[in-house]
Amino acid sequence: MKAATLIILLGISFSFVTPTLAQNGFVDSDTIFREVSRRPSRPNNSAKIEALLKQMTLAEKVGQMTQLTIDMVTTGDDQEVKIDDAKLRKAVVEYGVGSILNVNNQAITLDHWHRIIGPIQQAAQKTRLKIPVIYGVDSIHGANYVQGSTLFPQEIGMAATWNPALMKRATEIAAMETRAAGVTWSFSPVLDVGRNQAWPRFWETFGEDPYLASVMGTAFVRGLEGDDVSSGRHVAASLKHYVGYSLPLTGRDRTPAWIPEHYLREYFLPPFASAVRAGARTVMINSAEINGVPGHINKHLMTDVLKGELGFDGFIVSDWEDIKKLVTQWRVAADEKEATRLAVMAGIDMSMVPLSYSFSDNLIALVKENKVPMSRIDDAVRRILRVKFELGLFENAMPDNSLRANYGRPEYADVALQAARESVVLLKNQKNILPLSKAAKILVTGPTADSLISLNNGWTYVWQGSEPSLYPKEKPTIQKAIESKIGSANFRYLPGTRIVRRANSASNSNPTDIDEVVDIDAAVNAAERSDVIVLCLGEGSYTEHPGSITDLTLPEIQLDFAEKIIATGKPVVLVLSEGRPRVISRIVDKVSGIVLAMNPGNEGGRAIADVLFGDHNPDGKLPFTYPRAPGYLMTYDANNFERVLDARKLSSFQPQFEFGHGLSYTSFEYSDLRVSPVTVSRTGSVSVSANVRNTGGRAGKETVIVYLRDEVATLTPGAKRVRRFAKIDLAPGESRRVEFTLRRDDLSYIGLNNRPVVEPGEFTVMIGGQSAKFTLR
Ligand code: BGC
Repeated sequence: MKAATLIILLGISFSFVTPTLAQNGFVDSDTIFREVSRRPSRPNNSAKIEALLKQMTLAEKVGQMTQLTIDMVTTGDDQEVKIDDAKLRKAVVEYGVGSILNVNNQAITLDHWHRIIGPIQQAAQKTRLKIPVIYGVDSIHGANYVQGSTLFPQEIGMAATWNPALMKRATEIAAMETRAAGVTWSFSPVLDVGRNQAWPRFWETFGEDPYLASVMGTAFVRGLEGDDVSSGRHVAASLKHYVGYSLPLTGRDRTPAWIPEHYLREYFLPPFASAVRAGARTVMINSAEINGVPGHINKHLMTDVLKGELGFDGFIVSDWEDIKKLVTQWRVAADEKEATRLAVMAGIDMSMVPLSYSFSDNLIALVKENKVPMSRIDDAVRRILRVKFELGLFENAMPDNSLRANYGRPEYADVALQAARESVVLLKNQKNILPLSKAAKILVTGPTADSLISLNNGWTYVWQGSEPSLYPKEKPTIQKAIESKIGSANFRYLPGTRIVRRANSASNSNPTDIDEVVDIDAAVNAAERSDVIVLCLGEGSYTEHPGSITDLTLPEIQLDFAEKIIATGKPVVLVLSEGRPRVISRIVDKVSGIVLAMNPGNEGGRAIADVLFGDHNPDGKLPFTYPRAPGYLMTYDANNFERVLDARKLSSFQPQFEFGHGLSYTSFEYSDLRVSPVTVSRTGSVSVSANVRNTGGRAGKETVIVYLRDEVATLTPGAKRVRRFAKIDLAPGESRRVEFTLRRDDLSYIGLNNRPVVEPGEFTVMIGGQSAKFTLR
């Protein structure tokens, strides 16, 4: 029954309980979420900050709010980049810039990093107040722009592991390796919820579900920042890109989104809110716009919601050149000075300018003309200084040689391999074609079979991940990993087609990937003489604009090639290395097996081979809905109406593969789902439990996902929503009772008044094909 009245929740709070393992030996998502959400205590540096602020001139304050890119303090081309003393003096000593970021199209050694960051911090020591510089890079899936760092699956793959403990371990390692380089700030995690599968940054997200993204994202932050961010093992996080960036109407990067505020709060805000409550130090802003308001002037979202309502006490950094783009792209300001005023007054604390001194000059003028009050400047600077104090930069900002011991340790590669294995999703396994016999005659072919670039995607050594020479020679691609597993006698590799990076004909745009034929006939001939074909398709590397596409379908050249291989009549196992679900409906029914690898990182080749030959029993599950057609992108939580249409076959657009789908080489059976009590009071909680049994012949891991449906609600309810999950390990024949507790906030949704509401009525709990109901009084 629909409620006549709405019960308004006064906000959702986390209890600060000490996490305990559930009694029957498994850790559910709620327990680990609470653990990683615990905000560590911090030293109170207010007195030091105020004392420093009092001494600062306007120019010094504005300097702290300025971030420049490395090119502004260096010379030299790729690999030879070195500090330019005159440029450094201008930036750090004269302008007193507070932050520097990135390297340009190169990955340098730890030593080289020390030779860059050391002089920058020495220059800061020559300034009147000796305020250290905070250096930031995009350590998106491991320490970035550093040679030899450990690279993990991209976030989309980490989401497929459904393993937040592994996420936290991965970012602990990323943090140690980043800090060993002398860098103390990472522009990660990406907390945009990936609900448009065409968006070229889809793979940077944890997929389409806000709860999964919240748990994984908060684990990511805890791994980066730790309990003591000043220790040489951690770095400050930057939650990005706040907020609503990931739902562009066109699917192309940095294009407008329309998201009503209650939907923004329901689907896009939760991961940011969780990570802010957990203490994340910085936030980066959405480069695009929602509802006609560019992210960088959205005072409501930055000042009222983030700093006010959510109590964010770190600092907000702009994205790349985004104040200038308010003039050149969004046209909400006539000139850069006005854009600067709008952005700073809306809540931007630091501008990633990053290629000029215009921000500093404009902001100083604006304060002198009383167009920006000193109180706003002081607020921004306090926030920046607080993070610098917390990072321990005032005690020691110099790169620390002793931290080398934390770099590139062999055990890190084991963690990366484990993560890569758990990220692989087995989508199809007709007649148990997989695992393959190591004695079979195998042809490995396709454009992604011999590519570490496809396994890693963007933010790998360079921005686009596109520089082959920077990849470690010792890390095997898919074809090399297969050859070393089965030996060369029964093994053959031929590319068939390839993906090459070409300058785009559109003037001045970044190079993009295109597909080319190499030798299809040779591959088809070899296929005819093989027992099984491992066909490796997918994408090259891209992020942001260069990855924008107009059709999510896998490129024609690859599909044509696939059909020719399939036409040999030999069994084909498709392996997909791709950052977003490219539509494969043309070939999906004609192949025997499908392994979705996404972007598993440098250990991906080995992980894929382990899955193909059964040395790892696959346990990844889709964190997004795999579309059947490019013209019908939907999410698993679409409303019931859409589901009903599909069930009645009134529309043929069922997803290709459902959210949460993922096969194993063993089988799991769910039984005896119980919900208690079946009538719940507003203040009560609901216990949900079920038996899960491994009914197959192999040990395996199963992610138990608890979905909840609000049967009738004032705003059309979703068909189901993820409320809890747990990954359990079961031996053959073993069974375990899993138990979860749902609380009041799990039963709420964001109403039209932008606040959480709970409505009495019936709810359905679904676990592994079982369902049960309870009623909220
Ligand atoms: C991206 C950000 C990134 C920044 C600095 C921008 O183009 O949108 O995600 O952190 O560059 O590299």
